[in-house]
Amino acid sequence: MIDKYGRVIDYLRVSVTDRCNFRCVYCMPPEGVELMSHEQVIRYEELMRLIRLFAELGIRHIRLTGGEPTVRKGIVSLVRDIHDLPGIESVSMTTNGLLLPDMLPDLKAAGLSAVNISLDTLDEARFDDITRTTGNLPKVLDAIRLSAEAGLNTKVNCVAMRGVNDDEVLEIAALAKLLPVCVRFIEYMPIGKHDYEQAIYMDEVLDLIRGAFGKLTEDPTLRGHGPARYYKPEGFRGSVGVISAMSHSFCEECNRVRMTSEGFLKLCLQYNVGENLLHALRSGASDEELKDLILRTIDQKPQHHTFLDYAEEQDIDTRDMSRIGG
Ligand code: SAM
Ligand code: SF4
Repeated sequence: MIDKYGRVIDYLRVSVTDRCNFRCVYCMPPEGVELMSHEQVIRYEELMRLIRLFAELGIRHIRLTGGEPTVRKGIVSLVRDIHDLPGIESVSMTTNGLLLPDMLPDLKAAGLSAVNISLDTLDEARFDDITRTTGNLPKVLDAIRLSAEAGLNTKVNCVAMRGVNDDEVLEIAALAKLLPVCVRFIEYMPIGKHDYEQAIYMDEVLDLIRGAFGKLTEDPTLRGHGPARYYKPEGFRGSVGVISAMSHSFCEECNRVRMTSEGFLKLCLQYNVGENLLHALRSGASDEELKDLILRTIDQKPQHHTFLDYAEEQDIDTRDMSRIGG
């Protein structure tokens, strides 16, 4: 699929649930979000039908996210069924890692090719504060190690936040010295809130890493299907990456759209613009009608986000990240 700005759209992020076993401070309010009713959430067969149509239209890469994708029933078969669809080249997952160790062998056998595991601190008390849970850091560290050992392409996602974990950037980056993983730092985005003070721009993170680990040369061979830039410091088994959604917008290369667990096709992280495909599907639309609706919706993909002019914007999506899927 090609949008009206000439961008090839071949990557779909699917939020398979709005539920989560963590309550991360940057993602959800402490009481959690109001959960969708069972009826509102897209059913397995409905999801598979839409993903098949996306694949027929040219989507090649699917990332399962949430909420927390590992809490969705049937997630292993979902990976297998998506992997087996003609046209699909990769199925990956973004997870908090808590339930991953037990599921890893089955997920890998089902065809999962890559896992992004979120980790914002190596300090147990801080981990508890950020995730608003107790005692789970060792399990998430195990998930990272086991996933790398299982041979899955493993990335660690760290949201850099001033006054929260900025003093740990080097320690977290050094995980990639020890393990064959890619540690990626992500700029904190004002999704669902108007809070800029905690944002740290990636140039600052790269300066810190350069200062400690020496020269950083960008390694284009490590580029995946997304906007991250990757570097392999001397002596590292893995690599470090940065995603500068705020400071260096990558909208002109954007290849992705998102689908929420209520079947809403979302065209840009920042805006509400999109279409609820599930409503059309449940109203009896044929495959051809659904494909036509997807193409017409993709055509409305905004040219770029304007996170930095946030206060002036209209039609902003005020949902928390847990509803959108990151
Ligand atoms: N539960 C899974 C997880 O935590 O990896 C998947 C869903 S989570 C919404 C996807 C990603 O979005 C995570 O890596 C999380 O750190 C990131 N994220 C959530 N809120 C964010 C924010 N305000 N700014 C930047 N990244 C955010
Ligand atoms: Fe859950 Fe992921 Fe959001 Fe944390 S970032 S609350 S783990 S959905």
